[in-house]
Amino acid sequence: MASIRELHEQLVKKERSAVEITQEALDKIQALEPKLHSFLHVTAQQALEQARAVDAKIAAGEEISILAGIPIGIKDNMCTKGIPTTCASRILENFVPPYESTVTQKLFDAGAVMVGKTNLDEFAMGSSTESSAYQVTANPWDLSRVPGGSSGGSAAAVAGGECVVSLGSDTGGSIRQPASFCGVVGMKPTYGLVSRYGLVAYASSLDQIGPFGRTVEDAAILLRAIAGYDSKDSTSLKVEIPDYTASFRPDLKARGKIRIGVITETFGEGLDSVVEQAVTKAIDQLQALGAEIHVISCPRFRYGLPSYYIIAPSEASANLARYDGVKYGLRTPDAENLLSMYTRTRATGFGAEVKRRIMIGTYALSAGYYDAYYLKAQKVRTLIKQDFENAFKKVDVLVTPTAPTTAFKAGEKTTDPLSMYLNDLMTIPVNLAGLPGISLPCGFDDNGMPIGLQLIGKVLREDQLFQVAYAYEQATNWHLRQPQL
Ligand code: GLN
Repeated sequence: MASIRELHEQLVKKERSAVEITQEALDKIQALEPKLHSFLHVTAQQALEQARAVDAKIAAGEEISILAGIPIGIKDNMCTKGIPTTCASRILENFVPPYESTVTQKLFDAGAVMVGKTNLDEFAMGSSTESSAYQVTANPWDLSRVPGGSSGGSAAAVAGGECVVSLGSDTGGSIRQPASFCGVVGMKPTYGLVSRYGLVAYASSLDQIGPFGRTVEDAAILLRAIAGYDSKDSTSLKVEIPDYTASFRPDLKARGKIRIGVITETFGEGLDSVVEQAVTKAIDQLQALGAEIHVISCPRFRYGLPSYYIIAPSEASANLARYDGVKYGLRTPDAENLLSMYTRTRATGFGAEVKRRIMIGTYALSAGYYDAYYLKAQKVRTLIKQDFENAFKKVDVLVTPTAPTTAFKAGEKTTDPLSMYLNDLMTIPVNLAGLPGISLPCGFDDNGMPIGLQLIGKVLREDQLFQVAYAYEQATNWHLRQPQL
């Protein structure tokens, strides 16, 4: 599909109606879903209603917002009033939220058109979207490969052109890694920039909602629309949201030297050589665009993964305690007492990966182990944060590969959780430190699978990340390639 700005122009000039644009997305969804399985629910009727409302505004001569009439996919862990929100879990199979999450409310207020709810790993736990209880999403570039995860449905939907942009959530890499695997742009904002009211919690000290787009500009426009203070989220930051696109320039020379640090620890063992080559080339390109390149060491970066796999499951085990057959969704019938209703509901409602996380988390938080695991992991988290703080004394932006490999084959890692967890080696430290990170296409491997470049910014410097990403994108044409579906 065309970009947000192109579609906006077509709407304003009355070359096309919002209903026509929405219908294009719905037709694409109908044609591609048998192959891609990106959506858990398609909300065609509501989408067309929203589109008609935009057309009525245009007909009445009213001004419309930049997102009005733009088809958007929403990850199915964000509550949408009156529309199922399953988190790709059996335990929420029949859950229909009685309220709207802040992000979707903001989008609807801007006139955006939600075309459906996208597939994910159950409760956003995973890196391949294979742990969804309902369906496995395919990578649009090669249907036998995974789209990454956990926001794999949102990434595949944008890459396949089923919608223009989409929302994902990122706890340890779930926006950036699928963006990398699907050849699109994905941004995880600073912790607290986007309200999480209505986002089903996974690990509350790490979760953030963020945008997917085919281009940096599309992602930047979407982030601006969803960011900002919300009194309903106690971690929400009171900050002004800039127009990120206002300062876009095709190079990095105009605004004084921008210093980019290459994290040495992310190159080496475990990194695919094609990925390494593509990222190294991208760094040269950034230099050619005017950036000053520095080599930076973050020695504690590699402890991110082990500490994350204590912290995230611990928080998840607490957050998921609420699914007990009483308040939400599934309840197993015919239990002889309350305890057996709890346990049977949870035993049948949760999938294997979710159960694994609950067990790890419950263990790590239990008396006698708390100090050895959870507290220790939190201390390591502080050290990782310090590494970033030191790095940002010398540079403005950090660069790494987004993921160690390109998209792998479906089924390849499902029986080996550890190798699945390794996917997020480069993205997890960013969540632990609450920083913004973006992934954008920087090449393709020999199988034609996209490679992602990760840029990491200082707290609340999404503007800088977008600028660097935009300049790189303009100098390359990776974003122009499209999967042949
Ligand atoms: N793959 C990581 C996990 O399984 C990250 C998931 C996420 O960011 N939601 O926890």
